[in-house]
Amino acid sequence: QRIVSPQLTDEERSMETVLRPQSLDEYVGQLRMKESLRICIEAARQRREALDHTIFYGPPGLGKTTIAHIIAREMGGTLQATSGLVLAHAGDLASVLTNLQEHDVLFIDEIHRLPAAVEEALYPAMEDFQLDLVVGQGPAARTVKLDLPRFTLVGATTKAGALTSPLRDRFGLVYRLDFYTPAELQLIVTRSAGLLNIPIESTGADEIAMRARGTPRIVNRLVKRVRDYAQVKADGRITRAVAQEALAWLGVDAAGFDEMDRKILLTIIEKFGGGPVGVESLAAAVQEDRSTLEDVHEPYLIQAGYLERTGRGRQASKLAHDHFNKPSHRLL
Ligand code: ADP
Repeated sequence: QRIVSPQLTDEERSMETVLRPQSLDEYVGQLRMKESLRICIEAARQRREALDHTIFYGPPGLGKTTIAHIIAREMGGTLQATSGLVLAHAGDLASVLTNLQEHDVLFIDEIHRLPAAVEEALYPAMEDFQLDLVVGQGPAARTVKLDLPRFTLVGATTKAGALTSPLRDRFGLVYRLDFYTPAELQLIVTRSAGLLNIPIESTGADEIAMRARGTPRIVNRLVKRVRDYAQVKADGRITRAVAQEALAWLGVDAAGFDEMDRKILLTIIEKFGGGPVGVESLAAAVQEDRSTLEDVHEPYLIQAGYLERTGRGRQASKLAHDHFNKPSHRLL
């Protein structure tokens, strides 16, 4: 498990209840999204309606599940969570839908992975709050329409481009989550350290925030690992020096890169002359599958300006060459 992987570990699942913001006010950053949601939630509440179906997209660890929980709480419903991988048959969807109560949130993570048959069964549920159930088999089979409570479907996806347009069109609200700024991440570090009773100085929090790849889940992970280090190697307090030593020990460098990030960028620079190199060749060279490379590793490297996606493939930017002290032939 990479220390800066934005994906969830089991340990984190159990910490989640402690660290997860419970309200829009506690949810740091994403200001435009929050303002828009605040108004839509308030309007729906005044009309005593369910919130429109909502989809969030963006890289893992940016707060999609968290915001779904907050919507459920603000709407006074409960959240039923499932994922596009779990709902394999239309029958699985039917059993989830028929268990919903008025104003509940049905959260479907990785919604782009729903099988086509399940997705089609979802359309009438989203549009008319109806479920078409097939009863019986063979020539005696018939369809009965079942009324569903007014619920809100909240979808999350790391791949907006992979949604079919009929599904995308059925969402009233669409939000893209952005990477967080260092100042926002510093707020999250301080908040999490407070909740976990970890003494931390603002310079220590800053150091962690700068290296967390714009991602709250990574910030929280680094806080916990740096705490371990501070406890064993120092007096438990996270100062800037302690944070720096701990992060070096964790293999996270000044840019927040871990082994895999370095491998990706150095492979492009050293083996492919800085690029451009096709994504398939790059994936093979770093021994990672293409979709993990594209969905998990690349978004931050691109956003932070280290990697460029061009028509002819990926190339390492001048910033990347400078980071590794490598001359950039392409730019000379
Ligand atoms: P995603 O569903 O996008 O993968 P999560 O919602 O599971 O991400 O967020 C990962 C963790 O990061 C959460 O458990 C939460 O503690 C923290 N987190 C996410 N967004 C925020 C935020 N805006 N403010 C504070 N903490 C956050």
